[in-house]
Amino acid sequence: MKLKSQCILLSILMLSGCATPQSRAPVVNSANAQIEAQKQREMVIEDYMTSYKKLQVVASKVVVSGAKLCGDKVSPYFGISTWNQDAFQKEWKTAVQSKYGLTESVHIANVASGSVSDKAGLKEGDVIVSIDGWTPSIGKDAPGKFDEKLAQIGKYGTPVEFIIRRGAVEKKIAVTPTQACDFKVELSPADEKNAHADGKKIVIYKGMMDFFKTDEETALVVSHELAHNSMKHIDAQKKNALLSGFFGLLVDVAAAAGGVNTGGDFTRMAADAGARAYSVEFEQEADYVGLYFMANAGYRIDDAPYFWRRMATINAQGISMKSSHPTSPDRFVALESAVQEINQKIANHQPLKPEMKGSSGAK
Ligand SMILES: [Zn+2]
Repeated sequence: MKLKSQCILLSILMLSGCATPQSRAPVVNSANAQIEAQKQREMVIEDYMTSYKKLQVVASKVVVSGAKLCGDKVSPYFGISTWNQDAFQKEWKTAVQSKYGLTESVHIANVASGSVSDKAGLKEGDVIVSIDGWTPSIGKDAPGKFDEKLAQIGKYGTPVEFIIRRGAVEKKIAVTPTQACDFKVELSPADEKNAHADGKKIVIYKGMMDFFKTDEETALVVSHELAHNSMKHIDAQKKNALLSGFFGLLVDVAAAAGGVNTGGDFTRMAADAGARAYSVEFEQEADYVGLYFMANAGYRIDDAPYFWRRMATINAQGISMKSSHPTSPDRFVALESAVQEINQKIANHQPLKPEMKGSSGAK
């Protein structure tokens, strides 16, 4: 009623008629709408898990083959992720129950293909009954506690005995962990073309995953972020953290003045995690060392400079502040020379280790 009177008032003022729908819309059956809503929730989770799987296949190769470049930041690695229904609320819980059969027990959400767990025979959907005789708890936090326990048992480097339930059958599967860089690679559901490293983990955004055209591109960004962590860029930048939010704000203001509205993305990106506004030198190092991680994982690095160029042209927020600076041509040229250096080493069967300051043969 109120709306109608406002509309009449407005139409008098503006000397125009009030528009109302003319057609008879179909009557929506609320039970059917609920079924549809449930289906759409299942599709959202399925879409996320498809991206997550793609990311983990690449990430597991990069962190395992990169272990030799991660120094003391390595840990036992199994290549599995776990979940249960209690990480989800209300309708979403119903969706994961119907779509993935999740209960309050710990279920395997993903087994990175090619990982030690994959080779040993663990499968997505397996319910964990015990590991080395230890029975996981159920309900909220159970997957987290399981992950901690597995990491602890895995430290011995000896085979871990999994008892899992697959359908109605219980199976005993022994998995020997491998070593990997101790940085988890996570997927944020946010639809942003962004990625970051905070010194402990690596986060790739769903919007970024959708932007990648090939596994090489995924590997490139994971490797770049891994290099920020392995080279301890966060520690070194900590003292600059307070300034970064402000710096980001300046970039936003400058971009707005130049006609590009970043929607505050740079500010958020720079303030979040404290020190993501890496210096140009750190970005260069992450580019350089990142290519070594990528090459060690067996990915072709030749197209890397073109990917960053593609990022630069869409004004991608995140990845690096440098992409917003007029130094992108420098970056392209530096990447091309790093690609050459690494390909030369591959051709000569030399170890793929980045040249450090003071080491011989550095250019
Ligand atoms: Zn970076």
